[in-house]
Amino acid sequence: MPVVVLGLFGSLIGSFLNVVIFRVPAGRSIVAPPSACGSCGARIRGYDNIPVVSWLVLRGRCRDCGASISARYPLVELGTGLAFAGITVWALERWGFPAELDSHALGAALASIAFLYLGAISIALALIDIDTHRLPNRIVLPAYAVGAVLLTGAAFALGDPAALGRAAIGMGGMLVLYLALALVRPGGMGLGDVKLAGVLGLFLGFLGWGELVVGAFAGFVFGGLFGLVLLVTRRAARGSGIPFGPWMVAGAWLGIVAGDAIAHGYLSLLGIA
Ligand SMILES: [Zn+2]
Repeated sequence: MPVVVLGLFGSLIGSFLNVVIFRVPAGRSIVAPPSACGSCGARIRGYDNIPVVSWLVLRGRCRDCGASISARYPLVELGTGLAFAGITVWALERWGFPAELDSHALGAALASIAFLYLGAISIALALIDIDTHRLPNRIVLPAYAVGAVLLTGAAFALGDPAALGRAAIGMGGMLVLYLALALVRPGGMGLGDVKLAGVLGLFLGFLGWGELVVGAFAGFVFGGLFGLVLLVTRRAARGSGIPFGPWMVAGAWLGIVAGDAIAHGYLSLLGIA
């Protein structure tokens, strides 16, 4: 039940993310004016703004002028809905279904909200980076404050203050690592990547060391493999700007979902744990 509710809620958030992805890089307000058709400027009616469903009903065309509406809009809505449902399943697995409204339930709720928020900005940032090769401060910088507040509350409510120490180390470690890479190879890593790395380190560190290490390195593996594919297929010249943000985000989410298991598997393979 919470999975379905959060999934539907996620599709509404996805509808909002479409506005964010379109307007934030242009420096425009995300609250006003209301959404309008990109071709004829007609305002989108409330009943034409139902996530996924409206696009299907209108067969991907504006009701007023018939101009085609990109399939990316319903895909972002669907993807965010699935992401929210998936994060809810993950959170229930990790912290358990709340049996009573106690401190643990509060901590689990705060942590879940934090990771739903991370999921939402992950989708927005990945698509904005692909579109514009930028990771806007307007999205990345508030994530430090939102993450710090929610995760601090969660750590204390869950009775796990050590998670805060790991989060701080994760944030600092990722910032230093990415800053060093940006300085060593200017033009490769950008300052936007550095700032996003700190956010990802904060969230990954909160969960555990395995999540942090796997989440940090998976981004390089994904990005490196993709770069290799582009080189082999000669679709990109060496050193040409490939946005790295989407791979950082994808790597972090692999770390969040499977980092602990991967780290344990790797260590047992080495005979250490
Ligand atoms: Zn139109």
